[in-house]
Amino acid sequence: MRCRTFYLIISLLGLMMIFTTRGFTANDNQQATSRYFEKIRKAHDNARLTQFFTMMPKGGDLHHHYSGAIYAETYLDWMVKKNICIDPKTMLPVPCNYSGGVYISVDSLRKNVPLCRTVLENWSDLDFNDHFHLQDQPDQHFFTTFNFFGNISGAYYREGLAEIKARAKKENVQYIETMLTSPGISVKYPKGLTDSLAYFQVRQDTSGLFSTLDYFADFLQSSPGYSTSLKNYMDSLHAYHDGIDDSAFTMRFQAYANRNSSPDVVFTKLFSGFDAVSRDHSSLLTGVNIVAPENGIISMRDYWLHMEMFRFLGKKFPGVKTSLHAGELCLGMVKPEELTWHVRDAVFIARANRIGHGVDIPWETESLKTLENMQRDKIAVEINLTSNEFILGVKNNDHPIRLYFDAGVPLVICTDDAGVSRISLTAEYVKLASRYDFTYTEIKSFVYNSIRYSFLKEREKELIIQSLNNRFKDFEDQIVILNGDTVTK
Ligand SMILES: [Zn+2]
Repeated sequence: MRCRTFYLIISLLGLMMIFTTRGFTANDNQQATSRYFEKIRKAHDNARLTQFFTMMPKGGDLHHHYSGAIYAETYLDWMVKKNICIDPKTMLPVPCNYSGGVYISVDSLRKNVPLCRTVLENWSDLDFNDHFHLQDQPDQHFFTTFNFFGNISGAYYREGLAEIKARAKKENVQYIETMLTSPGISVKYPKGLTDSLAYFQVRQDTSGLFSTLDYFADFLQSSPGYSTSLKNYMDSLHAYHDGIDDSAFTMRFQAYANRNSSPDVVFTKLFSGFDAVSRDHSSLLTGVNIVAPENGIISMRDYWLHMEMFRFLGKKFPGVKTSLHAGELCLGMVKPEELTWHVRDAVFIARANRIGHGVDIPWETESLKTLENMQRDKIAVEINLTSNEFILGVKNNDHPIRLYFDAGVPLVICTDDAGVSRISLTAEYVKLASRYDFTYTEIKSFVYNSIRYSFLKEREKELIIQSLNNRFKDFEDQIVILNGDTVTK
């Protein structure tokens, strides 16, 4: 008996020694995964990096435009269902019973391979850099794609969201916060009121502007059908979303205004977005954004006005979260002085909870103060590498991603418009790892950031973070096996 006990102790000691020397803790599996990651990153082995990030759980995609996320091929499918044809000259959709010119059906288009390819090139960034052809400027091309599929994009929200979800789950993404336009409210303000916006804007008179915005708010809220429109909007959102959430995937929405609309329209969209979020106790609609080309004539002219509108609405609807496209600009696109203040005003005036893009930060005159504030207040920056490269031509070390990271600003990795760019979130992580020397642990922290800095409720965040912990454990186990190590159980 004594002998058996002795052998048992010796065996246990032996096992402990093996555990110690071979490394059998979860933490060790993370370190082994880090070593494997460094090996393939330093070897510029993009195929293995792609495999690595396909397998890795990626948390959430927080900068995600619904209509830009749908691939053109899906829009063509929807056109067949809706009996919509295509004008081969303009590449625009037209009803199949249209009598004003020549058009072809989507079925005929698909049999005409060169023409079908040309349609996809116009409806997305396909082939833009692969061959020489007559083409618009990249940013012009990018934003023009929305004109082709814009009228179809709202035709099948349920199917579109289901496709986005299915793709996300396949690439190990747990959450998407996608942008849909704010409630459509038709209202005609008195001319004197709209004129006064321009008056206070020119003088940058905040108190005068806020008094005017109070009138706007009263006029809008008392306009016929306002509350019904908000209710219909939320009812539609719930109907689209029905069946999307499950134990492994969650989707939420942001409302938005188009920054190139007239000021009264922007205010109406923002106000109805804020109001809808504040009324939504289900928290399906989580926040408000402002979108569209920042270098547009109207958006550049009205940028200060828009930031003040956000400040006004933040006071009126406290607690409503905002993410603002800000600083999506580069040298040459606008005058140098226009590169010096957009992120700053989104942070200090609009009080944004997150910043989308933020590319112009190195050019901003108060960048240190802005970065310090973003770090202190945990204002995350949404990084969209492919989008920035295509639209702005900003890539590699010209991109301020390290500037944000080194300043302690939380980073999240996003796609922006995966359908237009013909990318995926996995591809963005591959680009991140192949261009910048972030460690595996740092990249893992970006994944957790994508849940921590989402606009989900705290309880919802906790559940997804628990799921992420389990998924990372499984992932690191798989990588350890892949690398020929032994796995902890
Ligand atoms: Zn965007």
